Amino acid sequence: MFLLILLLLTFIFLRHNQKRSEKLTTSVENNIQKESFSPKSLSSGNESLYDIDLKMDADGNFDIETKIEITNTSEDTWQELVFYFIPNIFTEEVSEQLGKTLDVPATVEVQDVSVDNKSTEFTLNQDTLSMPLANTITPGGNVVVKFSYQLTLPVGGLRFTKNKDNFHLAQFYPMLATYRDQKWNKEEYRFRGETYHTGFSDFKVTYEIPETYTFVSSGENESYPSQEAGEFRINNVKEIFIAILKDPVVVEKQVRDVNIRVFGFEEKENLYKEIIEIANDSLQYFQEIMGPYPFNQLDIVIDGLGMEYPGIVTAGSIYGSTVRDEAVKNMVVHEIAHQWFYGIISNDPYHEAWLDEGFTSFAEEMFHYSQSGDEIFYDDMVDRLGLIKDTDLPVNLPLDQYENNSHVYGKASTMLWLLFKDRGGLEEAEKFLKSYYDFYKYKEVDSKEFVRFACSYYNLEDDSEFTTWLEMHH
Ligand SMILES: [Zn+2]
Repeated sequence: MFLLILLLLTFIFLRHNQKRSEKLTTSVENNIQKESFSPKSLSSGNESLYDIDLKMDADGNFDIETKIEITNTSEDTWQELVFYFIPNIFTEEVSEQLGKTLDVPATVEVQDVSVDNKSTEFTLNQDTLSMPLANTITPGGNVVVKFSYQLTLPVGGLRFTKNKDNFHLAQFYPMLATYRDQKWNKEEYRFRGETYHTGFSDFKVTYEIPETYTFVSSGENESYPSQEAGEFRINNVKEIFIAILKDPVVVEKQVRDVNIRVFGFEEKENLYKEIIEIANDSLQYFQEIMGPYPFNQLDIVIDGLGMEYPGIVTAGSIYGSTVRDEAVKNMVVHEIAHQWFYGIISNDPYHEAWLDEGFTSFAEEMFHYSQSGDEIFYDDMVDRLGLIKDTDLPVNLPLDQYENNSHVYGKASTMLWLLFKDRGGLEEAEKFLKSYYDFYKYKEVDSKEFVRFACSYYNLEDDSEFTTWLEMHH
């Protein structure tokens, strides 16, 4: 996700145009040995395989069946299952409760929920869909849950929304929460930040849509225009996203193994061509400094909020305000960086948002510096911290502890820059990220684990360099 404050601050420091006068050469040797450091991953407590069948009619009614095969990989016996079901947030009743104004509310009708083929009672409260289990699930045990439901999309929603004639299907299916510390890790929905967290899962999707639309999604190997009916499979992703688009302007580019596509909705083909160039440049940069982009297609939908999903991103506005063309390009770079921080290295975005937003903002800035060759303006970064309200707060508090999300974006990325400032700057940061990626790809990190890694990487005797900006005891 892209945040306005970061954008403003980015302008502040990109205004300077001095060239890097002197390259720092004090790069610290990477002392971490594969044998001596073993990364720890937080467990999501489950393994889930989603099978989603989606049918859309010409009036925008969706009829969806979602089957989830779930294995309990935690150490506890489950008495209930807890899912996020975010479409319910945008119904008339719930959106009014939450004080959110929608142009048109969503409708959600859950027909049936079954557990191991037996219809079951469930409760749906805001975005929490839960059900008691008639038969408890012991560690290692499996269960198959099926949901049949109908949806229409809201206009003026968030991520899950209809924009002009386009349908943005984000979080449109029940998503199993993570299970940790002896409980389901499910927080209340918020309209800012990502308040849902899921484990890496496998997906199979089949669809039917009216012929006047095209289907664009997390799936790979898609062509434009799409078929009216089709299917895709994708493994090891936190979620999937589907956009059902009307009459897009499409620009494509194939670079080695990756097919990049931009879908726009204005007569701005030149802008879309510039977007595909910067998308390609940043994709190459992030692959070079970290590791491979995991899909053979990257879709960029220039409609709606700046948001990341596996294999597909959206960009164009920030919480309702439209932005300049230049900012749209920065936003695309940001969302592409998320393919590594969120897509490959996972974190809980409610409790540890800085680990994806801070790293993503940092990587986005690294890309811009690597392109421009400008000197890194550490002083300006420190100055911009002063613009953040309650600037002294650590960057790793849960989302409900902040008035806005500036800490997890701007402050976190600044603290990362300062970590590398006297150790070799940009080039050292690139090496560090490579090592971080190698250790943590397809794992989930938290602040504590990041600090353990960084202390080991730099042979630090204690974590005092981090405790000034990270809360270490929650
Ligand atoms: Zn973001």
